[in-house]
Amino acid sequence: MKALVLERKGELSIRDVPLPLEVGPADVKIEVARVGVCGSDVHYYTHGRIGPYVVDRPMVLGHEASGRVVEVGAAVKGLAVGDRVCMEPGIPDLTSRASRLGLYNVDPNVVFWATPPVHGCLTPQVVHPAAFTYKLPDNVSYGEGAMVEPFAIGMQAAMKARLQPGDVAVVTGCGTIGIVTALAALAGGCSRVLVSDLQAEKLALAGRYPGITPINLRQQDLAAAVREATGGWGADVVFEASGSPAAFKGLFELVRPGGAVVLIGIPIDPVPFDVAAAQAREARVETIFRYANVYPRALALIASGKVDLKPLISATFPFEEGIAAFRRAAEGRGSDVKLQIAVSAEAR
Ligand SMILES: [Zn+2]
Repeated sequence: MKALVLERKGELSIRDVPLPLEVGPADVKIEVARVGVCGSDVHYYTHGRIGPYVVDRPMVLGHEASGRVVEVGAAVKGLAVGDRVCMEPGIPDLTSRASRLGLYNVDPNVVFWATPPVHGCLTPQVVHPAAFTYKLPDNVSYGEGAMVEPFAIGMQAAMKARLQPGDVAVVTGCGTIGIVTALAALAGGCSRVLVSDLQAEKLALAGRYPGITPINLRQQDLAAAVREATGGWGADVVFEASGSPAAFKGLFELVRPGGAVVLIGIPIDPVPFDVAAAQAREARVETIFRYANVYPRALALIASGKVDLKPLISATFPFEEGIAAFRRAAEGRGSDVKLQIAVSAEAR
């Protein structure tokens, strides 16, 4: 089976890789349609590691995927050959203590596509548990299907925030995750979301969505903008989606008394933050790690038209040019939000 392989740091190839394709009773076999290039894939390519996860042998990249079911296991209900689907890339142990608590995303034994040593899905066919495979509504494209994975992170953050109708939110960081978090927050009832970053092109794209106010940190002071938007009270929810240590300076000054701060971005090194400022407001601090039980909600919002992820797909590359997609992603162009790879001919 051909696959897009990270051989070692800085070296990609498209070549045959032996990948298991036996379909167990609870599995489906899927012809992969679209796969999004994620910041984590790019980081493995450019740095060879993310924290404790080190690429020490060739690994197939890709975890944001949609496709079409081509075979179903004997015990599978609710999915049939021909169904268009998207897949949750993490497979937890459903008998684990974390899974039984509903926290399958933090099951220590979760097996996640393209997290060393687990192969990803940039290959024409994959076998996946039906329990983590979701049918795409007819009006949701393969491109949008492959956007559900990053959007699910924004959804998890919005769920953790316990948003209320009319809330004003702030999102620090206007990358893919920052934008999808703002969209999830708006869908969850926020009246307005201020999104801050240093990248003018990404801010301009985010600002095209009704309800999103871009704040360019090169020109504007975020705290002043929040005070102005909230009559000096502070934002109901602050989502930190950059992972940048700089974002933690003054973070709690943005939130209203009794408000929430949701930490989404993963700082590379430990970052200090102002406990006293958090206490002075009795701020609630939430963290997220990936997502659990949000794919059906995410798909329902996309199908309803309340969330439009299509403008975030900046370019699509055919599978044979997949390496070019990674090179371009590594350039970090300001105008690129999400690059995707069309693995099947049907998804071009
Ligand atoms: Zn991703």
